[in-house]
Amino acid sequence: AENAQAPYVELEPMVSRLNEQHHDLVERMDQVQSADDMRREFTANVTHELKTPIAAISGASELIRDGIVRPEDIPNFASRIYDDAQRLSALVSDILTLSKLDETERSQDRQLFGSVEPVDLLSVASDVCQRYEQRACDAGVKLKLDGVSTTIKGNPRLLDELIGNLVSNAIRYNRRSGSVFVWVLPQNGQPCVRVSDTGIGIPQEDQAKVFERFYRVDKGRSREKGGTGLGLAIVKHAAAFHDATIDLKSELGKGTQITVTFPAQ
Ligand code: ADP
Repeated sequence: AENAQAPYVELEPMVSRLNEQHHDLVERMDQVQSADDMRREFTANVTHELKTPIAAISGASELIRDGIVRPEDIPNFASRIYDDAQRLSALVSDILTLSKLDETERSQDRQLFGSVEPVDLLSVASDVCQRYEQRACDAGVKLKLDGVSTTIKGNPRLLDELIGNLVSNAIRYNRRSGSVFVWVLPQNGQPCVRVSDTGIGIPQEDQAKVFERFYRVDKGRSREKGGTGLGLAIVKHAAAFHDATIDLKSELGKGTQITVTFPAQ
């Protein structure tokens, strides 16, 4: 009689296990669903962002081709075509970087992005500052670099993009006679890069969202300044690639400070 009852005794834990598995499955399906929604939304955004400059380039060049533009206006049209082509090129390059970072995260193979080697953060920051010197000058913004030579293991190109995007934002969302400070320094034994500006600041309610793809506080200002809406998303993933954390402090009308802290080497 004992033997005959045994299967019923074991049924209960089995049912509860099945319930758990069902619960996990539903949860995972929800995750897949929301990843799927995000992918769809990203694709829709990409399509829209690409179509806008393409339409402008086609339209302007068509008007020139058909002789509708007065000769004295042609330089102006050409310059607009050039700006849109630049925007298109920046977009394509940012989209490629992000999709490569996504792929790297999925496969968990960091080599996919290229070499991981000793990189001096100060020399990367110095290259970036040199590259942005002219743009800062044109915007009437002072750009200063300070710090000590700090070597981490990382991908040189990605670190260049990370610091470059932070510096580019700090210049673009600034005001005339404003400043940008770039610091490379160890804090509590951890390598840090800090970019702070005396610019327009980010409203409290937007601070968590600015790292999302295509999220902009002010669409008009971002586009007008050549922004792709992908800069901080690249910063977020490039930091994750290096196991670094990001800290954002910002006050509206006063400025923004973003600190990227790398693991102790
Ligand atoms: P964008 O190409 O639009 O600059 P980002 O992803 O780099 O895209 O930044 C997202 C948004 O965050 C920007 O559109 C801007 O509104 C805001 N932002 C980023 N950096 C700063 C900064 N240093 N000061 C003020 N606002 C900023």
